[in-house]
Amino acid sequence: MEPENVKGKLAQPGEHLGAAEEAAPGKGTFERDNEVYAAVAGRVVREHGEVSVLPKKEVAQLKPGQIVYGIVMDVMENLALVEIEPLVRGLERFVPAWDYGVLRVMNIRDGFVPTAKTEMRRGDIIKARVEDLSRGISLSTKAFDLGVVRAYCAVCRHQMEMEGPAALKCPHCGTHDRRKLSKAYGQDVMLNEIKF
Ligand SMILES: [Zn+2]
Repeated sequence: MEPENVKGKLAQPGEHLGAAEEAAPGKGTFERDNEVYAAVAGRVVREHGEVSVLPKKEVAQLKPGQIVYGIVMDVMENLALVEIEPLVRGLERFVPAWDYGVLRVMNIRDGFVPTAKTEMRRGDIIKARVEDLSRGISLSTKAFDLGVVRAYCAVCRHQMEMEGPAALKCPHCGTHDRRKLSKAYGQDVMLNEIKF
């Protein structure tokens, strides 16, 4: 039989990994009632009396405070779902490509925001800050340089131009729209480094 730590088996979050008395809970795991479970998706590694789960890709992990770029995949009343894009600096890929972040309505901008649907649209590219990692990846766009950095016209799909702090205009068909915009809308230097 092939040793598991050479070709570790893949585990999903919540998957049972064994009794804590057989192998102590290591990185990427948690213990409940003397049983060890995977806390993240990844490869199971058993060594030195410990069982750990290493994330699928050997990349630096997201940290609170980190700035990320993503595509808005869906917008609901209370949140926007964001696909976080990998950023490559030199040879180092420091944001995993497969992660989704959640931008809750209260984290979009200061003040009362009744619905996320007036602030973002599906397909927008946003710049956001990682706020919290305790319940998935929680994002914020409150700061003045965060928010939508590229948006497309809902009518003709043309790239929209900034008209005011929260206002956009389509140069092709003249449609007006609004978003929580980054101050650097359309000019963010990182936009060119990301392969969307
Ligand atoms: Zn248009």
